[in-house]
Amino acid sequence: MQTIKGIAVSPGVVIGRVFIQESERRRVARRQVPPEQAPAEVARLDAALAASIAELIKVRKDTEDQMGADTANIFLFHMGMLADRSLVVPLKRLVTEQFFTAEYAVQKTFTDWAQRFRSMKDSAFVTKANDLEDLSSRVLRHLIGEHTGRLKELPHEAVVIASDLTPSQAAGFDRSLVEAFATEFGGRTSHTAIVARALGIPAVVGCPDLMELASDGTPIVVDGDRGLVILDPTLAQLDEYHSYLEQQKLFQLSLEEVASLPPVTRDGVHIHLCGNIEFPDEIEAVVRLGGGGVGLYRTEFLYLTRATAPSEEDHFQAYKRCVELLDGRPLTIRTVDLGADKYTQERAEMPERNPFLGLRSIRYCLRNTAMFRTQLRAILRASALGPIKVMFPLVTTTGEFRRARWHLNEVMEDLSEDGVPYDAKVPVGMMVEVPAAALMADVFAREVDFFSIGTNDLVQYTLAVDRTNEQVAELFCPTNPAVVRLIKDVVRVARRHRIDVSCCGESAGDLEYALLLIGIGLRTLSVTASTLPHLRRLVRSVSVAECERIARKAGSLDSDAAVSAFLRERARKIIPEAFGGRTAE
Ligand code: PEP
Ligand code: MG
Repeated sequence: MQTIKGIAVSPGVVIGRVFIQESERRRVARRQVPPEQAPAEVARLDAALAASIAELIKVRKDTEDQMGADTANIFLFHMGMLADRSLVVPLKRLVTEQFFTAEYAVQKTFTDWAQRFRSMKDSAFVTKANDLEDLSSRVLRHLIGEHTGRLKELPHEAVVIASDLTPSQAAGFDRSLVEAFATEFGGRTSHTAIVARALGIPAVVGCPDLMELASDGTPIVVDGDRGLVILDPTLAQLDEYHSYLEQQKLFQLSLEEVASLPPVTRDGVHIHLCGNIEFPDEIEAVVRLGGGGVGLYRTEFLYLTRATAPSEEDHFQAYKRCVELLDGRPLTIRTVDLGADKYTQERAEMPERNPFLGLRSIRYCLRNTAMFRTQLRAILRASALGPIKVMFPLVTTTGEFRRARWHLNEVMEDLSEDGVPYDAKVPVGMMVEVPAAALMADVFAREVDFFSIGTNDLVQYTLAVDRTNEQVAELFCPTNPAVVRLIKDVVRVARRHRIDVSCCGESAGDLEYALLLIGIGLRTLSVTASTLPHLRRLVRSVSVAECERIARKAGSLDSDAAVSAFLRERARKIIPEAFGGRTAE
């Protein structure tokens, strides 16, 4: 038995068996074929190279249409490499002369080239090494099959163990097979973790030595409530978990009973509870669990779940589907928040040294305006079908907001000229997730229709703590008085200017923190669908007056530890069932 303490990122407990997800690069065995099979291997290799080139031509064309020629040119290098005789000739020789499998020949050749590039002094060559690895994965995918990693071999339900997973990998999980996952790297508000919660897959990240200790088929418990992974659990531990699961089932039933009751506090204040979504399909759960609309649609997932950039029609169809599913409830569409841990680094010609402080989010959109306008056009077209709000992420300066809005106005004019209907009064707001924006909230409030506070990034940037780094996960504290003070100021400004303000960061779904947010004055919280019943139960169990007392007391405390302990103690008194009588170890 081995217990590993990690970071709980997606709730729920699963008792299952391990399936190791290795990276594609490691899984290709050094195998040879009988000499008479070599011509067939060469034919496979030719087909995979041709398919990769055809794919790259399409990717390049789509990227050019969506993001302009500069970004598309990244793929010129890829195409050039696949046609380069100095790479292709030795690659084929490994098959025709040494009788290696096509897979091994590809892996060996590309790895050797990547190493050669890495050893060069010029940093431009060093970054090309990543491109070669990317290219190797592409060709291997055509040889081995579409799915990344071993996951397509997953024969039955299992718990996926990996050193790390990207948001796109998690988004591609088959929910009927992946029961839970655990990784060595990652943080609670990383986008991989957010996807896990969206899919309802229990997950623990930041588990030291996990890959070394686990092997395929090992019995495992993933405790996404306490952040524990237990390998080879004892019978006593299994008994404890089985009774915990029973108890949680009962609590879940009691939650469902209140799903249709309004989220009104004991002193009669309505707290608007909305859902955060990454995929339109999640709306079904948002509505079923009583969400009053979507407070945050992370549209960048349209990019993360496909090989090529989405077209205007792809955007439009997704938004149309959301509007239909919401049936009159509002949909807040956040324009794409690519960059940092999402998408761009995997494709970058020159990886950024500090992607979270780099060309991310609205900055990326303002540099890639063709792509930005494609999305804005689709959003506006959808605004003719139902209540939609537009929200810009990571706004740091008023200049950025004005430029983004200018593009929106331009697209509106184009649509008017083309006679395409849209809502000319579509509310336009911004995420407040950079300290500079929070500090200047009063200036922004004169220009925006609403604020949505994103605590994931606000905490990251206020406390200088990478949200995806397990090494500093303990320093990622939404209860830090500096963060609380910023949120308080933004809410005060919004109220003074009579504009809507909500909170859509992960902390809004944390019961302890929600008490504080309501006490500070927030009346709209937007959270992962599965959290809605818990929040509703909380809201119905407290009064605003009590939350205000809690916020006042929390405001007098001078450390995150003191605020956290105080909030935990109060939340456990108010809604003890939510904690199941257990404490994190
Ligand atoms: C946030 O930063 O709090 C947020 C809601 O946005 P995201 O998690 O997508 O960065
Ligand atoms: Mg954010």
